[in-house]
Amino acid sequence: MNALPPRLNRKEAKVHIDGKTRLIGILGDPVAHSLSPRMQNAAFQAAGLNFCYVPLRVKQKQLPAAVEGLRAMQFRGANVTIPHKVPAAELLDCLDRSAARTGAVNTIVNDAGKLTGYNTDGAGFIAALAEAVSVEFPSATAVILGAGGAARSVAVALAEKGVPRIAIINRTLAKARGLKALLKLEFPDIEAVAVGLKEKCDDLIISSKLLVNATSLGMDGDLKRLPVAVDKLTEGHIVCDLVYGGPGDTALLAAAREKGATLMGGLGMLLHQGAASFKLWTSAQPPIEVMRKALESQ
Ligand code: NAP
Repeated sequence: MNALPPRLNRKEAKVHIDGKTRLIGILGDPVAHSLSPRMQNAAFQAAGLNFCYVPLRVKQKQLPAAVEGLRAMQFRGANVTIPHKVPAAELLDCLDRSAARTGAVNTIVNDAGKLTGYNTDGAGFIAALAEAVSVEFPSATAVILGAGGAARSVAVALAEKGVPRIAIINRTLAKARGLKALLKLEFPDIEAVAVGLKEKCDDLIISSKLLVNATSLGMDGDLKRLPVAVDKLTEGHIVCDLVYGGPGDTALLAAAREKGATLMGGLGMLLHQGAASFKLWTSAQPPIEVMRKALESQ
């Protein structure tokens, strides 16, 4: 027997759609947890734009077909999320510098069939960090957990800000080394370190200022699987978890809070990367406060 279709509450049921509506998708797997549809549709509505933003669950093997579908169905554009940011970069007609430098795409713009890839994650991360805490970048060494699309964007954004030393810890050591090589190529003076998940990393945590979780771990709240010695965190650390979703702190942020560290959750980055994507698709000024409210009222 088929399950009943999901029902909306009445407050949510007011997106305008007609024959002229421009479509924006978000390609990901999983994608049901994403708050971008709520945030972007609120923004289009507030700005009086006839756009609609839809979640599109796309399996890895079907990414090329899905990207081609954006062109065939004349979507105005898309966001790209886990696990497609890196492979998507290979499938587009051209890449803006933000995407070329990181090798990862989180935003696609379709101009009359020509698909251009951008990356607004790095700028979104820096804007959110600046809003949440005060950081002296040139003296802040960083540890990044993960080496996927989000990790690449954060690593490059921090290097652009002058962070002198970045350690990458990742399950697949080859990918951590790949990100290290990318950093060394773009920023020859940077000290970059690549470490596997199983290696001991206490000293890296102790000697860092900034810790960023850019893995998808923690989405299920399971701290045990996080490759980080949380007992080494102190009041001097800034801990950022890009994972968002549930109410309250993620497991990492809860542990860091206990140690007195300064915290940044994933919603600020989601807001600022989304605002930059909105501008790329519409050329209009993003209604930031409307977008923030849409995220906070989840
Ligand atoms: P991705 O490209 O698929 O990368 C996933 C990363 O997580 C890889 O480093 C992967 O390691 C690691 N990972 C996945 N499962 C793991 C496991 N079981 N054990 C250990 N490591 C594991 O994804 P992404 O686009 O970078 O996104 C990563 C996370 O950041 C997601 O939770 C996403 O929602 C979040 N994010 C948030 C924002 C925001 O605005 N707040 C923006 C971007 C991303 P391997 O290399 O070994 O596979």
